[in-house]
Amino acid sequence: MTYQNYTLEQLQQIDAAHHLHPFTDHKDLRDAGSRVITHAKGPFIYDAAGNEILDGMAGLWCVAIGYGRDELADAAYAQMKELPYYNSFFRCSTPTPILLSQKLAEIAPSNMNQVFYGSSGSEANDTALRLVRWYWALEGKPRKNRVISRHMAYHGSTITGASLGGMQGMHDQLGGAVPNIAHVMMPYAYELAQPGESDHDFGLRAARAVEDEILRVGADNVAAFIGEPIQGAGGVKIPPASYWPEIQRICRQYDVLLMLDEVITGYGRTGDWFAAQSMGIEADTITTAKALTSGYQPLSALFVSDRVAATIVEKGGEFYHGYTYSGHPVACAVALKNIEIIEREGMIERVRDETGPYLAKALKERIEGHDLVGEVRSFGFLGAIEIVRDKATRQRFQPGGSAAVLIRDHAIANGMMLRATGDTMILSPPLIWTKETIDMACDRIVKALDLAK
Ligand code: PLP
Repeated sequence: MTYQNYTLEQLQQIDAAHHLHPFTDHKDLRDAGSRVITHAKGPFIYDAAGNEILDGMAGLWCVAIGYGRDELADAAYAQMKELPYYNSFFRCSTPTPILLSQKLAEIAPSNMNQVFYGSSGSEANDTALRLVRWYWALEGKPRKNRVISRHMAYHGSTITGASLGGMQGMHDQLGGAVPNIAHVMMPYAYELAQPGESDHDFGLRAARAVEDEILRVGADNVAAFIGEPIQGAGGVKIPPASYWPEIQRICRQYDVLLMLDEVITGYGRTGDWFAAQSMGIEADTITTAKALTSGYQPLSALFVSDRVAATIVEKGGEFYHGYTYSGHPVACAVALKNIEIIEREGMIERVRDETGPYLAKALKERIEGHDLVGEVRSFGFLGAIEIVRDKATRQRFQPGGSAAVLIRDHAIANGMMLRATGDTMILSPPLIWTKETIDMACDRIVKALDLAK
């Protein structure tokens, strides 16, 4: 690497001149300059200005096993030397996607034994949509092609991902979304429960918004419901316990397929391999990516249920779909090693039994009492902090979540990487965080909150 030959200012100038970033206001970037992250180790990232920052977001929800794992680099290196690339099109295959598929079938919910690879969560959701629509066409119901999603869902950034998602800002820029996708209310009790409504009742009401939509357009026209078990980018919205069982009932009653998006929740974050297992959901497709390789390589895996796979295999003939990098041998080698490490180090059990409950307690005891905090919530290693002007009335700051952005900036300046979405601060740590790391994070979050008062 030769970046050391450049000053930080030079890197920022080149970046602003030539690099279009995702989800970035470029005028703002040109004024402020980007934060250039140069290296990372364990739970910490380091920027070019020399700051050490505790990474509360695991990169972008992906670095489950932490940074600087030589074993993953070694797995990639060995695979690159032996076979850097070959595809799995046209009746070819390579060993690492074969073995990874076997491993994934072992850890996935028991009705999931087939997997389709891409490079990103967006690609996986695109594939999932194609598969479910094709499934119904093969079952003789081509009109059963509508999909129901939720407001503030995030399913990726391609036209399909953004259309499946329920982010208004993204829809406004699409110039026309993929048709036949509807969005219904999200299970977000903090803002949407009515006065006096219990969490249980609210969860049922939110689920029944899906049923209302099915009845409105007719079950014969609805292919699937898609949802993140916990809405991540939309603000770590943890549904009441009554929500998913009711969604499952509704999907079964109307023969609507259930598509889970576990791009964030997959591979340990909820204290199981998949949130489907934590929440007892039986899905027809599960989209995964991110922590599959801990972000060390781009890779997504779409699980397909035995029911859907049987129809596609038996009746489908050739599936005219695939990506050059589907089943990329290097990415799959890294995924295999990553899963081995998660298992070997008992990370999932630790999140479930020890560090997840400790994080929940720390957020409740140390953060929720703060004047600027309306609610904290967490599930495993996913957490959220609601920022309010007034705790009692839950009144927010200005529209647009300016207070949360300010707190995020204070947090980063004090060595803590957090994300702000609207008025919600989000936490998605690497699974390697210990109780001591959680204490350190809380110290820094409290400091950032105090500075923003
Ligand atoms: N689905 C969910 C739930 C996500 O959080 C994301 C990305 O954050 C995606 C899909 C899209 O994944 P990618 O950015 O890899 O395309």
